[in-house]
Amino acid sequence: MKCSQVTHTGLVRPNNEDAFLAEPALGLFAVADGMGGHRAGEVASRQALENLRLYFQRLSPGDPGADLAAAFADVNAAILAAAGAKRAWRGMGTTCTACLVREPDLWVAHIGDSRAYLVRGDGLIQLTEDHTWVLELLKNGQLTDEEARRHPRRNMLVRALGAEPDVRVDIRHIGLSPRDRVLLCTDGLTNQVTPAEMSDILTGVADPDAAVRQLMNRALALGGRDNITILLLEG
Ligand code: CA
Repeated sequence: MKCSQVTHTGLVRPNNEDAFLAEPALGLFAVADGMGGHRAGEVASRQALENLRLYFQRLSPGDPGADLAAAFADVNAAILAAAGAKRAWRGMGTTCTACLVREPDLWVAHIGDSRAYLVRGDGLIQLTEDHTWVLELLKNGQLTDEEARRHPRRNMLVRALGAEPDVRVDIRHIGLSPRDRVLLCTDGLTNQVTPAEMSDILTGVADPDAAVRQLMNRALALGGRDNITILLLEG
């Protein structure tokens, strides 16, 4: 698949803790959004994606879903080990949303609150569920949609790579149709731009580089409060 991508620090944050991976030869694409003090978030997101790339470069491919789950476990262990080896890196972690393409099949592996979407026809289908505390409260009926959107701790994650030794990864398989697009992005996009606006751009702008640029510019125009990373895949 062809990949168009962009990453931007945004207009408020001093550094970019997002990272992305685009390896068409491996059919492997991913975004990661790191967290941790003293720029450890940058280390965590970059290290996670570098580890993921190396894992798939060395792998003799088996079942794609199982390969992704094993890769995420390997990456998790590497981040925990690095965090334990250097004081400034203690407590670092990262989201990771990855997809493995074996056309016409796609597998998505996900932990955290970055997202994958399928752009099909004139609509946008979210393929991942945010692993956030507020989403859990929302699902339990303890918060309304509006309260969740405004909650001061809405970014608090309940799952991330590097958070604990046992990693729970969501794995999903999708059969791709001709003209499908797949979007991977960090929350710097989704916290600023509504799904309706995202859908308008992704279904309305034919050129993928232009679509990615328009999404980023929209997030910046709405404040650019966080790092923004966007990958758009199409056949
Ligand atoms: Ca972020």
